Amino acid sequence: MKLTILGSGTCIPHKQRGSSGYLLETLNSKILLDCGNGTTWKLEKIGVNYLEIDHIFFSHLHPDHTGDLVPFLFATKYSRNKTREKPLFIWGGKGFVKFFDALKKAYGSWIVPEHLVLDEIRDGSETFQDFKIVSTKVPHMENSLAYKITSGEKSIVYSGDTDYSESLINLAAKCDLLIIECALANESLKMKGHLTPNEVIKTINEAKPKKVLVTHFYPECDEEKVVETIRSNADIEVIEAQDLLEVPI
Ligand SMILES: [Zn+2]
Ligand SMILES: [Zn+2]
Repeated sequence: MKLTILGSGTCIPHKQRGSSGYLLETLNSKILLDCGNGTTWKLEKIGVNYLEIDHIFFSHLHPDHTGDLVPFLFATKYSRNKTREKPLFIWGGKGFVKFFDALKKAYGSWIVPEHLVLDEIRDGSETFQDFKIVSTKVPHMENSLAYKITSGEKSIVYSGDTDYSESLINLAAKCDLLIIECALANESLKMKGHLTPNEVIKTINEAKPKKVLVTHFYPECDEEKVVETIRSNADIEVIEAQDLLEVPI
């Protein structure tokens, strides 16, 4: 598998970090994990045709994770001389269908391309052609999910946005790559629903993934060098997410 980071930031505009979006490529599938504003444009920038995306999985419904869904669908419907030939599967947690129905009320058929299959992950897991996905609830907003994707011998876990969580630790146990948020720059900025560097370190040390990618940085995280703090307290490889960085798994 190969992961490309499309957005390592939050809702706050930043010169180098866009809102959340990750491209995961398995042998036969192209998967987006979240689709924050700018994701569709970034795909074009790295030379991936957005019409080739097979699945989008949403961790939760905050705008910095869903903001490009409407532009993505609009571009898919009106793709000019290219046409989408294969199904486009879009998935979210409980309430996702209602969320999409509200968007449809606003935008009508402009955002309903052919071959669209949109649903909620109902029983926590789904199996597809060359990967399996398992979800678990994490504490952030209502029905926020973390995902584990396994393809062949390899597995990645994406935390989405989360507070410290046993369910994330269990999901991430011994995975090949854990993509984990660290929105808060230090312990004094702790707020419910996001992780501080110490909570990320605790999660890593308990889950023991083989490698970690730290992401979803508010601007002050860069000033406070949160990744260096995490790296010096973990005995595995810790990668700092950067927009357009590729991570082989
Ligand atoms: Zn977020
Ligand atoms: Zn959020």
